[in-house]
Amino acid sequence: KETVSKNFIEQEIDKDLAEGVYDNVHTRFPPEPNGYLHIGHAKSILLNYGLAQKYGGTFNLRFDDTNPTKEKVEFVESIKADVKWLGADFEDRLFFASDYFEKMYECAVFLIKKGKAFVCDLSAEEIREYRGDFNNPGKESPYRNRPVEENLRLFEEMKEGKYKDGEKVLRAKIDMASANINMRDPVIYRVAHMEHHNTGDAWCIYPMYDFAHPIEDAIEHITHSICTLEFEDHRPLYDWVVRECEFENPPRQIEFAKLYLTNVVTGKRYIKKLVEDHIVDGWDDPRLVSIAALRRRGYTPESIRRFVEMVGVSKANSSVDYAMLEYCIREDLKLKKARMMAVLDPVKLVIGNYPEGQMEELDVPNNLENPELGSRKVPFGRELYIEREDFMEEPPKKYFRMFPGNEVRLMGAYFVKCTGCEKDADGNVTVVHATYDPETKSGSGFEGRKVKGTIHWVAVPSAKKVECRLYENIVDEEKGKLNEDGSLNLNPNSLTVLTDCYVEPALGEAESYDSFQFVRNGYFCVDCKDSTKEKPVFNRIVSLKSSFKL
Ligand code: ATP
Ligand code: MG
Ligand code: MG
Repeated sequence: KETVSKNFIEQEIDKDLAEGVYDNVHTRFPPEPNGYLHIGHAKSILLNYGLAQKYGGTFNLRFDDTNPTKEKVEFVESIKADVKWLGADFEDRLFFASDYFEKMYECAVFLIKKGKAFVCDLSAEEIREYRGDFNNPGKESPYRNRPVEENLRLFEEMKEGKYKDGEKVLRAKIDMASANINMRDPVIYRVAHMEHHNTGDAWCIYPMYDFAHPIEDAIEHITHSICTLEFEDHRPLYDWVVRECEFENPPRQIEFAKLYLTNVVTGKRYIKKLVEDHIVDGWDDPRLVSIAALRRRGYTPESIRRFVEMVGVSKANSSVDYAMLEYCIREDLKLKKARMMAVLDPVKLVIGNYPEGQMEELDVPNNLENPELGSRKVPFGRELYIEREDFMEEPPKKYFRMFPGNEVRLMGAYFVKCTGCEKDADGNVTVVHATYDPETKSGSGFEGRKVKGTIHWVAVPSAKKVECRLYENIVDEEKGKLNEDGSLNLNPNSLTVLTDCYVEPALGEAESYDSFQFVRNGYFCVDCKDSTKEKPVFNRIVSLKSSFKL
C-alpha cells in the first residue's frame, strides 16, 4: 500500500529545504557499539537511509564510540553486517566518533575561552544535589566563576592525567535556574582512565554524550539528526552546543517514537539473562528480534522494510503487534518460495496395490500462485510418510482426510483409499494402509469422481530426515510479560524441536538461509548455525495463517 501523505519528518525537511535552511539532506545512523542491533534499530536505520534516498542526499553510518567502558570491537563488525544486510548502503561513509576526540577537545577549549565552560571540583554526588529537580531550581557551583585562565590550565591538567576519575569535570555554563534540568550546567567532559578500543590510552578525558553527539553531527555536516523521543528534552542542549561552538549550517535534531513490539524481549538485561540461563542459544536465537536473530529465523530485508513502512513514523510511543511482522514475512515469501512437501510428525502409509520396488517421478508445481517458479520432480512409491494427524481411525464429523473407507488425494499424485491400519501394543498407529487408483494421476485430467481431502507425503526410500524447530513467542503480553519478582514470565512452549521429520530429497541440498513453504506447516528456513548436510535443521519462520488482518 502506497502512503500518499508525508510523515512529519519529511514535512519538516520539505520546510527546511523550501526556506533555504539547508540545501541538501544528510542523515546518519549512530549506534553505540555496545550490543547487537534489533528491530527497533532497523527502523532507525531504514528511516535515516530512506530519507537520504528520497531526497537524493547522503547517509552516514557512524559509531558513537565515545564511551570507552561498554564498547567492544566485536559489535562494530556485527553492526556493519546488519546495516548492510538491511540494504542501507553506507559505502565509504563509515565514521567513528572517537576519530573526532581532538576536535571535541578543541570545542571544549573554545567554550572555556568564551566563558561558556568551567572546571568543577564538586563530586558527582554534590553535582546531583546542586542540580535541584523539577520543583526546585538548581544552586550554582562554587567553581562556576573560575577565571578563564584557571579553567584552561585545569582542563589541560585533566587531559594530562593529573586527576583521578571523578576528581574534576568540565561543565557547560548555561543556567542553573532553567526549567529544563539538562540545561543546568551539564557535565560535558569527565576524567576516565580507561583504554579505548580505537584510541587506546591517548585520552584520559572523554566527552559526555550530550556534548559529543551534536559535534559529531556538525563535523559530518549532518542536516537532520534524527533520534528517539527520550532525547526531546536534550534538544535545547544540542542546539546550545552547536550554536556556542559556532558551527556553520548546524544540524537540527528531530525526534520520533521508538518502535516497540508486543510479545518480544528487546531489553539487553533480559536477553543477557536468557543467554546465561541457556534459555536461548545466544543473541541470534530465532525467538529474539535482534537483526541477527531475525535473519537466522528466515526474515528477509524486504519483509523488515515493509514492516517498518507499515508501522510508519510517529511522535507518540506505542506498541506494534508482533503478528504484523509475521504478516510482512508471509507476504514477502508467498510468491517467491517453492511449496515443498515435508512431514513433521510422520506415520507410514503403504499403498498395497502399488508395485513393490517401483518408483516414479511426479511433476509437482512449485507455487500455485506463481507459475513462474515452474515445477519439480518428486519421487513417489509404495511406501510414503504422511502426517500422523492426517489419519484417524474414528474420525469426527467434517474430517476429510484418511480414515478407513475414505478416499483422499495425495498431493500431486493419486487418489488413495484407506483400507485400515496397524497398531502397536499401546494402541499407537504404526502403519496406515491404502490402495491407489492409477487413473487418478494428477494432471491426467481425471474427472470421474471427486475427493474432499488432499494430503501431503514424502516417499520413504528417498526421504531426507531433518530436524524442524517450531517457535512461539517467548513471552505472552496477555499473560503478563513479567512475574511479580520482575523476572520474565516465559512461555514454556517457545521452542518445540521435532527430530524425526521427513522431507523431499531436494530439500537435502538446501543451504543456510534458504527458505521454503512446507505444505500446510508454514515457511521454514535452513538454520545457519546448527544445520549440517547429514542432519539439516529447519527453523519455522512463520505459520501459514494468522489472526492478523490488514
Ligand atoms: P538499546 O538500549 O535498545 O540498545 P540504544 O538507544 O542504546 O538502544 P543506540 O546504539 O544508542 O541504541 O541507538 C542507535 C540509534 O538507534 C539511536 O538513534 C536510537 O535512537 C535508535 N533506536 C534505538 N532503539 C530504537 C527503537 N526501539 N526504535 C527506533 N529507534 C531506535
Ligand atoms: Mg544509546
Ligand atoms: Mg544500544
